[in-house]
Amino acid sequence: MYDIIIIGAGVIGSFIARELAKYEANILILEKENDVGNVTSMANSAIVHSGYDPVPGTLKAKFNVLGNKQYKKVCEELDVKFLQTGSLTVAISEDQLTVLKDLEKRAHENGVEVKLLNEKEAKQMVPNLNNAVRGALYCPTAGVVDPFNLVVHAMENAIDNGVNLALNEEVINIKQIKDGYRIFTKNHQFDGNIIINATGINGETISDFVTAHHFDIKARKGEYYVLDHFDNNFLSMPIFPLPSEKGKGILMTPTSSLNYLVGPSSEFVDEKDDLSTDALTLKQIREQALLIMKDIPFNMTIRTFAGNRPTPSTHDFIIEKVNNHFINAVGIESPGLASAPAIGKYIADELVQEIIHLTIKQKYNPCVKKYPHPNMLSSQERKELIKTNPKYGHIICKCEGVSEQEILDVLERSCPPHSIKAIKKRVRAGFGRCQGGMCQPLVAKLLANYLKVDLSEINYDELGTQVAKFKTKAGDTDE
Ligand SMILES: Cc1cc2nc3c(=O)[nH]c(=O)nc-3n(C[C@H](O)[C@H](O)[C@H](O)COP(=O)(O)OP(=O)(O)OC[C@H]3O[C@@H](n4cnc5c(N)ncnc54)[C@H](O)[C@@H]3O)c2cc1C
Repeated sequence: MYDIIIIGAGVIGSFIARELAKYEANILILEKENDVGNVTSMANSAIVHSGYDPVPGTLKAKFNVLGNKQYKKVCEELDVKFLQTGSLTVAISEDQLTVLKDLEKRAHENGVEVKLLNEKEAKQMVPNLNNAVRGALYCPTAGVVDPFNLVVHAMENAIDNGVNLALNEEVINIKQIKDGYRIFTKNHQFDGNIIINATGINGETISDFVTAHHFDIKARKGEYYVLDHFDNNFLSMPIFPLPSEKGKGILMTPTSSLNYLVGPSSEFVDEKDDLSTDALTLKQIREQALLIMKDIPFNMTIRTFAGNRPTPSTHDFIIEKVNNHFINAVGIESPGLASAPAIGKYIADELVQEIIHLTIKQKYNPCVKKYPHPNMLSSQERKELIKTNPKYGHIICKCEGVSEQEILDVLERSCPPHSIKAIKKRVRAGFGRCQGGMCQPLVAKLLANYLKVDLSEINYDELGTQVAKFKTKAGDTDE
């Protein structure tokens, strides 16, 4: 019997696991995918919002503001790239200036530092703003984070402190037992005293196994353009239009790896796994983005993608103790990424502690083991690193400059990749202009060699997505 079982290893489940790992408890996390952070937590704008716009008094406002304050320390402990860039929300007409003033008031109610800028000040800060911009609200505490390693490293930290992770375990039923619940996956069953439902967009299905108190979570799709690295000075911070009932609107932002994202759209879709993009929506995104920024070089687009927001019928995050054995932490749409550290802390230190008193572990370590990030070194430091190990000089992904040793390094870690995509998320091999066209076979071969399996067994993503499924006539997929 586990003391605590968390279902779902997105950013929310992983931060809950990390926070609970500081206590003496037997903890398991079940994830249906072949990797952590493989659903909504990897398909978003990756902005650590300041918290100026959620309605005051909501869980969104509370956890966004608290989470933002924790980000710098958390990212230092977890060795994750976080750039505190600030953000601008712009008014493109005189009428919109009044709305900016209302947003300034709301920011103050939420306790968020902001500054109203006039047209000249805004354009000095971001020279590529559209000429129509009349003023802006500057939020200095906003930033951008590497969302992939945020989840992976939070989970690594949890595992290093004793949490057990089981991948490829989709929960298909839950039944009440004495002192807790029995969880059924396709091939196994697990008993837990406290179950924490962190299944994001699927949260209602898991909650319905346990309680008659029903809510709906609908999928609201956001499509994006990803632009290649072209000029690090084009834009230094996220630029938002005024928010509306549809969300934060079509924005443009640099990423922590200095690409640019333009999007996301906001449309409800029937299928929760519908991640298609379409020409009409992308055209609308282009048109709307050009209302706030000028001369966006859409010819630098290297791909488009979509993520689905888990939009709950309650209009706020669903974070609740259902009974003394079951907690919901679902329906967490934006600003869920920004809020994750604070949600994890609240669930571990308050909701779980209300149920069972856990004692702090003597040997808890909040930091992950550091490893070299050659792309963040000076050329001299890089030369020194290559002298110590020439595999840091053997480049596998030419677009993003990723070496063989960087891939070998992540394979050795406590939440290692099992697929080509999981390697891509950790080291960026395949994220560049050729989208893996050149490096994917080399990455697959490295993974096969490391796992000591045939190349034909290597998955691109989830189980059953082998990229070299059939042997050639010569009978050898290795060559
Ligand atoms: C377009 C878009 C833009 C966004 N932009 C931002 C932003 O800039 N800043 C911000 O703060 N937030 C943003 N968000 C919101 C943020 O991405 C989410 O709030 C956050 O990722 C939700 O994390 P989660 O862990 O709840 O869900 P998920 O990441 O979906 O994790 C849930 C996990 O549960 C697993 N699971 C589901 N069902 C089962 C089952 N039956 N058994 C086992 N496992 C299961 C899934 O496989 C998944 O790994 C954005 C979201 C979208 C879609």
